[in-house]
Amino acid sequence: MTTIVMKFGGSSVADIKIMKNAVSKISAEINNNNKVIVVVSAMGNTTDNLVKKIKEVSTIYDATEYDAILSTGENISSSLMALLLQKEGINARSWQGWQIPINTTDNHSNARILNIGTKNLEEKFLAGMQVAIIAGFQGISTNNRVTTLGRGGSDTSAVALAAAIKAERCDIYTDVDGIYTTDPRITSNAKKLDKISYEEMLELASLGAKVLHTRSVELAMQYKVKLRVLNSFNEGTGTILCDEEDIMEKRVVSGITFSKNEAKLTLLSVKDKPGVAGIVFDCLSKANINVDMIIQNISDNNLTDVTFSCPTDQVDMARSSLENGKNKNILEYKKLDVDIEVSKISIVGIGMRSHSGIAQTMFKTLGDENINIKVISTSEIKISVLIERKYLELAVQVLHEAFELSKV
Ligand code: ASP
Ligand code: MG
Repeated sequence: MTTIVMKFGGSSVADIKIMKNAVSKISAEINNNNKVIVVVSAMGNTTDNLVKKIKEVSTIYDATEYDAILSTGENISSSLMALLLQKEGINARSWQGWQIPINTTDNHSNARILNIGTKNLEEKFLAGMQVAIIAGFQGISTNNRVTTLGRGGSDTSAVALAAAIKAERCDIYTDVDGIYTTDPRITSNAKKLDKISYEEMLELASLGAKVLHTRSVELAMQYKVKLRVLNSFNEGTGTILCDEEDIMEKRVVSGITFSKNEAKLTLLSVKDKPGVAGIVFDCLSKANINVDMIIQNISDNNLTDVTFSCPTDQVDMARSSLENGKNKNILEYKKLDVDIEVSKISIVGIGMRSHSGIAQTMFKTLGDENINIKVISTSEIKISVLIERKYLELAVQVLHEAFELSKV
């Protein structure tokens, strides 16, 4: 008997009626004689609503309690799903992270999976359980506290389980047909890709494409998990993630992605001496800030400006961690400038390794629309820029045209 992992995202379990759709997909796999591990997200906007409640208390919060609250959404959806399957005569049981156990670091709100015990699951499968419905997004730390894996983390739960149990494949059911050249809501010219390399997907995910959690792609690549992204509401073939060698038609640019709610923070007049950048980013990392782009200006009079970007919802935490550093005399700076009206837009493609002129095309295309570039960063297969948020949609549309992505 082969084991397959099926993951249903928030929109695929949004209410009982929609959940029944997932039930029929799960039943079909059982009828095919598979052992099935289902991973679920919280229903619809549950997690967002829980975050709102936390922020009603304070925007600066204790991440341990944040996790205790956020993990509850998946507890409900997993148990409801088990009840629905039982009603169909299927021997299903819900599992929370600690019951598996899914052991994680104690890095609350963004914990990483350390290992997964498979013994408990295997015993129950032997005893007749047909489906295990596992609450995604959560685990248990070395301190015995519930942790969460970062927003969107139930994909990572699914892939990690697929790797641990050596599943035949891992199917991620969502509300779109697969991975697109860009968000189809921004341009109707966006095209679904039949295949994408792990590496490109890793960049797209980490740069803001919300379809897959970054860590899930990293794990799939590392453990060679056969990963598919499919629409739970229709019958398409979705997008298959695979090794670069398995893609015949190599594209120069495969996708354009963006992260809408970014903030640009600049520390003005920081001492230009060894160790200072280390201190700045130590303050930020202790507050679990996801720092993204970084630039340091050329120094003037031994003073320099350090600019970095992070998600807008982390700005208050970033500011307080830096002010804390200043108050404790660990860090010296004159002023902190914050611009919360920026977005990051990125182009990604393995073809960039062997083609020149990609950056030039990107910058010229934006320049022709009078869109100013505030920060640039690059890697081997991506170029990212920070721009004013009001130009985001226009920028995506013109870049999609410039790189002829509607023709893939
Ligand atoms: N429910 C969590 C979230 O909304 C995890 C997930 O859906 O993957 O971020
Ligand atoms: Mg998701």
